[in-house]
Amino acid sequence: MASQVRQVARIVRPQPVIEGAGVRLLRSIGGAALDYLDPFLLLDHFESDDPDDYLAGFPLHPHRGIETVTFMLAGEVEHKDTLGNAGTIGPGDVQWMTAGGGIMHEEMPRPREGRMGGFQLWVNMPAALKMSRPRYQDVAAATIPVVERSDGVRVHVVAGQVDGVRGPVTAIYAEPEYLDVELPARGVFTQAVPRGHAAFAYVYRGSAALGPDGAGGAPAPGDDGVVSAPALVVLGDGDEARVRSGVQGARVLLVSGAPLGEPIARYGPFVMNTGAELEQALRDLRDGTFVWSEERAG
Ligand code: MN
Repeated sequence: MASQVRQVARIVRPQPVIEGAGVRLLRSIGGAALDYLDPFLLLDHFESDDPDDYLAGFPLHPHRGIETVTFMLAGEVEHKDTLGNAGTIGPGDVQWMTAGGGIMHEEMPRPREGRMGGFQLWVNMPAALKMSRPRYQDVAAATIPVVERSDGVRVHVVAGQVDGVRGPVTAIYAEPEYLDVELPARGVFTQAVPRGHAAFAYVYRGSAALGPDGAGGAPAPGDDGVVSAPALVVLGDGDEARVRSGVQGARVLLVSGAPLGEPIARYGPFVMNTGAELEQALRDLRDGTFVWSEERAG
């Protein structure tokens, strides 16, 4: 049977939001237009050359029930948490954080050469693991392989596999694939995605068309289906994701993962399955018992 290229299901224009202590972001998942794309709960894009847009940062705040994946393009984020982890992630680095049963941390953006930019993706955790032990890992840019193809396409493999090359982030519960794809002018990149997995493309440079090839092959400006950065393209089901860049090339996050199919109850940084579990999180926060501990986990 011929493999089926995933069609565009919908296009979401990222919306400006202010988060943390006053950080300007573009939100495409987790906002009014798209509440979630199971198992993905949030996608924020932060990018600015004005420090007033981000210096206030994200002072100490809680998370429970999710994993967050921060991918830096420029500048750095200084972070530390109440479990004793601390560090700085810089351009090309990834920070992978499993909140599990409860973590309190701060994330403070700082410019490098006047620039700051990156993405944060929230991935849901299954009910059976939401209260598990938190994990925290910084993945240095140097350990993220770049697949360079003869046609000029370059793929940074954060998680998943391209041309037999595996990315370093492997133990996220939803088994997401997370690729940062650089396409030259009129480039094409096709990636197998398991049927039934949720998939999206986030076009953040240039313009691109997702889905099966049209009669004309690579898109020309004005073609139907061509989106200009920044834009989130949600893909329908199928066997492969295909991205074709326009005349200026493109840079695209291509992300997929297994849906959990469980009820979602969310309140800010807590994502659980029921309202009662959200109330418990708020009680724990008030009682000073929010952060995961060996004793309480029993
Ligand atoms: Mn956070």
